[in-house]
Amino acid sequence: MTPTREVYWNITGIWLMYVLLIPTILVFAYGIYRHYRLWRLGRPENRFAPVVERVRGLLVYALGQGRILRNIYGGLFHALIFFGFVALFIGTVVVMIHEDFGLRIMQGNFYLFFQSLSLDIFGLLCILGVLIALFHRYRLRPGRLNNTWQDPVVLGWLLAVLVTGFMIEGLRILATQDPWAAWSPVGLVVGRVLSSIAPPEFFLALHVFLWWFHLALAFGLIAWLPFSKLLHVFTAPANIYFRSLETKGAMLKPIDLESAESFGVKTIDQFTWKGLLDLDACTECGRCQDVCPAFA
Ligand code: SF4
Repeated sequence: MTPTREVYWNITGIWLMYVLLIPTILVFAYGIYRHYRLWRLGRPENRFAPVVERVRGLLVYALGQGRILRNIYGGLFHALIFFGFVALFIGTVVVMIHEDFGLRIMQGNFYLFFQSLSLDIFGLLCILGVLIALFHRYRLRPGRLNNTWQDPVVLGWLLAVLVTGFMIEGLRILATQDPWAAWSPVGLVVGRVLSSIAPPEFFLALHVFLWWFHLALAFGLIAWLPFSKLLHVFTAPANIYFRSLETKGAMLKPIDLESAESFGVKTIDQFTWKGLLDLDACTECGRCQDVCPAFA
């Protein structure tokens, strides 16, 4: 028997998922477009070359989390959440290729080692990352962090997506007597915990409810992303790609006090498009404040 699993086990009316995907994508695209329109208001600035150097920075600082890992707490939780969600995203793409495109790749050793074991581990590390972020923000409370209503909502939402994902997996493993359950250790443990509190006759109904709830959470998060701090998922890598490659300090241009018509910027169109992108990429992490002499 080849190791695999039925993707939409116990779920009917899957067409509804594709219908719900349409407004999700539309709202997401509209949110991104609003920011794009704002950046277009800025003055022109050439930040496009050299491509190789810029791509290298993208790989080191965005994909490799190079700069962020210098901060032990902030770096650790961010890396755990980032790599966890990257892995889970790849897992979702694998499901799409397997189920929607009919290319049966989700089977055999790939299914066991990547789609089951690795994704379980990455999902668990992701939960750990969210918990460290909550501990860091609300227990350690570093003075540089400015807490807003979005912070607990974003972290709670991520946690809910991850936990419901494991609950769905656990219920499926138990209800189907999955012969490869040991390859999904986190889902298996969650399933056993659920079985100790919920009677087996509720498993199927609970699984259906949690499956749609998990989908609503995931789609809702995607739609909200461009309107929230999570926008930095896109703006931070873009900001890294278009960063200044000049020597530090070389950007400061002398001000001609005699003939300058204005100093600094007064209206939004006096920023460059990159300056406006910078504004959108800020996550209010407070690290710039940490090194600001006026704050020390
Ligand atoms: S501008 Fe300051 S607060 Fe914003 S992301 Fe950069 S370091 Fe963090």
